[in-house]
Amino acid sequence: MTALPIDAATRLLVIAPHPDDEIIACGGLLQAVAQAGGRARVLFATDGDNNPWPQRVSERRLRLDAGARKRWGTLRRAEAAAALDALRCDGLDGMHIGWPDGELTTLLAPPRSVEAIDTLTDVMADFAPTMVMVPAFGDYHPDHSALALLATLALRRFPGVRSGSFHIHVPPSGAGQEWSLVLDTQALERKRDGLRCYGSQLHFGKQRLLKFARAHESFDIGTGVPGTIAAGDRWRWRIALPGWMAKLGARHLHILALDGSGTLLDQRLPLSDPRLKAKRRNGALEIDMQPLLSGAHQVFAKVEHGVESFAYDITLWTATEPG
Ligand SMILES: [Zn+2]
Repeated sequence: MTALPIDAATRLLVIAPHPDDEIIACGGLLQAVAQAGGRARVLFATDGDNNPWPQRVSERRLRLDAGARKRWGTLRRAEAAAALDALRCDGLDGMHIGWPDGELTTLLAPPRSVEAIDTLTDVMADFAPTMVMVPAFGDYHPDHSALALLATLALRRFPGVRSGSFHIHVPPSGAGQEWSLVLDTQALERKRDGLRCYGSQLHFGKQRLLKFARAHESFDIGTGVPGTIAAGDRWRWRIALPGWMAKLGARHLHILALDGSGTLLDQRLPLSDPRLKAKRRNGALEIDMQPLLSGAHQVFAKVEHGVESFAYDITLWTATEPG
C-alpha cells in the first residue's frame, strides 16, 4: 500500500463509465485533491440512461421508448451534477460524452475504436491531467472493462501521466501495487451525501447503494492492461469456466487484438469453431490457435453468453499466454 501522490499541482481526471461510479470509487480521492489545492474533472462516459428496471419502478410504466430513455438520461446527468456539488470541492467539474450505456464493448470494434480513442485523447489534451483514474480492466461489467481498454490506449499518447484503476464489480486484484486512501469522518459523510443524490438508483433500497460508501478507497497502480506479444506467437488462453457458467450459455469467444492506435481485430467465434481447438480441462477452457494477425500486438479473449439482457460478463478479458 502506497499513499496517493497528491499536491497542489495535481490535476486528476476520473473516467467514470456510469454516473455514481465516480462517487463509489473516487468520492474521497476527489475531495483529497481539492483539499491539497489541486483540480479534478470527472468524465462521465455514459449517461446511465439504459437502466430500465429502476426507471419502470420510478415512472410506474412498463414500456420504455426512446423518449423515456432520453428523459432518464437527463435525470441522471442532473443527479451527477448534484453529486459532485455534494462533495463541496473547489476546482471540481464534470463533463459528459453520452456514449451508449450498456454497449461500450461495441466501441472496441474498428472503426469506432479509433474515434473513441480520439475522443478520450481530446479530453485528456484539453484538461492536461497529471493523474488519470480509469475503471479496472478486470471488472465483470463489460462497460467498465471496455472503457479500461479505450482509456489505456488513449493514455499511451501521454507517457508522463500517472494512471490508476478502480474496482467496482470485482474486488481489487491484489496482484500489483496499490494506492490507498482512508477517508476521515467529514469526507465519508460527503461521499454518502454524493451517493444520496442518485435518487434514481435508490428505489431498490438506499442501503444497497450507501454500503458502497466505504471509508477506504484503493486503486491499482497502472491500468492493469497486460503488454504486447511478439509476432508469430500462438494465441493461447486458459479461461476459468466452471460447469455452471458453461450451462448458463457460453456461446462464443470474443477476440480483440489491439495495437497502439486502436483495434486491429474484433471477432466472435463460436466455441465449436475448429480453429480454436477448444478443450475443457479442470474447470477451464483451453484454447490454442493460429494467430489471425501477423506483427506484434496485444490480444485478449473472453467467453460470452447469448443472454443479451444479462448485464455482467461470465468471464473477464484474458490476455494470451506468451510463447
Ligand atoms: Zn458502472
